[in-house]
Amino acid sequence: MERHAIVIGAGLAGSSAAERLAARGWRISLIDRAAAPGEGASGNRAGVLRPLPSLDDNRLARLTRAAFEYALSHLQALTAAGQPLRWGQTGVLHLARDERHAATQQRVVAEQSPPAGYLRWLDRTAASELAGWPLAGGGWWFAGGGWVDPASLCRANLARHGAAVVPHYRRQVDRIDYEDGCWRCFTGSGELIATAPVLILANASDARRFPVASHLPLRPARGQVSHLPAAAGSPPAIVVCRLGYVTPAIDGLRCAGASFAVDDDEAGLRAADHAENLARLELILPGYGRQLDAAGLDGRVGFRPLSPDRLPMVGAVADAALIEPGSAGTSLGELPRVPGLYLSNGFGARGIVWSALAGELLACRIDGGQPAIAADLVDAVDPGRFLLPGRRQRRAAGTPR
Ligand SMILES: Cc1cc2nc3c(=O)[nH]c(=O)nc-3n(C[C@H](O)[C@H](O)[C@H](O)COP(=O)(O)OP(=O)(O)OC[C@H]3O[C@@H](n4cnc5c(N)ncnc54)[C@H](O)[C@@H]3O)c2cc1C
Repeated sequence: MERHAIVIGAGLAGSSAAERLAARGWRISLIDRAAAPGEGASGNRAGVLRPLPSLDDNRLARLTRAAFEYALSHLQALTAAGQPLRWGQTGVLHLARDERHAATQQRVVAEQSPPAGYLRWLDRTAASELAGWPLAGGGWWFAGGGWVDPASLCRANLARHGAAVVPHYRRQVDRIDYEDGCWRCFTGSGELIATAPVLILANASDARRFPVASHLPLRPARGQVSHLPAAAGSPPAIVVCRLGYVTPAIDGLRCAGASFAVDDDEAGLRAADHAENLARLELILPGYGRQLDAAGLDGRVGFRPLSPDRLPMVGAVADAALIEPGSAGTSLGELPRVPGLYLSNGFGARGIVWSALAGELLACRIDGGQPAIAADLVDAVDPGRFLLPGRRQRRAAGTPR
């Protein structure tokens, strides 16, 4: 088979998949309706990179740990390759929500004994000292975490292998079809944009516009981030989270966020959402935002591609049309797949964490090779999971997603 793939979407998902395949010698035709990479959800000035541990070390915890570590090595490799990536490994302080959560955070550290460079618990005094701000309580300290400018990561991914990635910007794919072993992507006026044996849908929730992917439970979740004026060198110089986040000052601004509303398509900024972000900020850095007027703030709106179980969707697209309604006992391995059609999607609120590992995993699925994660985690992100009998029954019965 010709080692040529089309990727629809030049955000974190598409650019990471393109980079990992190009590293293996593939040619990539990259299509995006925007004029440049990282113009969709991946266009915030900065977002947070950190894992999410849990007491039972569940799949989300294991996956975010693997993804966090993979992301760090990927960012370091891009930087070492001379790519003008913007990120800061400042550390991330994840404050406990309340007393109960603080006790859980401490138990996680006591019972799992993670390396101190990965995770430590800090009490209120130590946390406040680190933040340079009087905080309401303590929390987890991820010394290796930090902030990333996601659009710079998209650009770095796409530039890393030079001419291997051929971009087609300002082109919206309205229709795809599969003929003679090749996928073809067309504009609304019927113009052919690209043809290749492999097609990767990394176009966020818009993937559902294509009938072969319309069964996927992807939903857009609107998010608004607020930009707060901040003097260079002012505290905190680390990322601080508590039911939201605030970054260090980057080019004279901190990012504070973020609102979260499913199926809300308003693209413009809303003062009410800035006010919500300032309320979150009050929980994070008491007093910091009291002088700020929500009506006068700038910011950015994006639409996260949300997956119902908060795990990404990475792998071959299952052929829903070939699955008998009511068929029992089907496993992921037995699901029929659409030839040459793959997905890297559903990153929700964690695209910075997921994207590099998702790109690598997808490249392994397409090109062969051992994934960097355990088999049960590969299954956990398989897009076919939503077509397994138990899931279908729950959805048919109206179980909340
Ligand atoms: C306010 C906010 C705050 C966030 N904070 C964080 C954070 O702190 N940490 C973190 O890890 N994550 C964060 N995220 C989540 C992260 O940004 C997303 O998970 C990630 O950007 C999703 O990447 P993507 O490539 O799937 O989608 P996108 O970046 O939206 O990329 C999809 C691309 O597909 C293109 N496209 C769509 N349809 C078509 C079509 N038919 N034809 C051609 N092109 C098409 C779009 O133009 C777009 O460029 C945040 C998101 C938001 C909105």
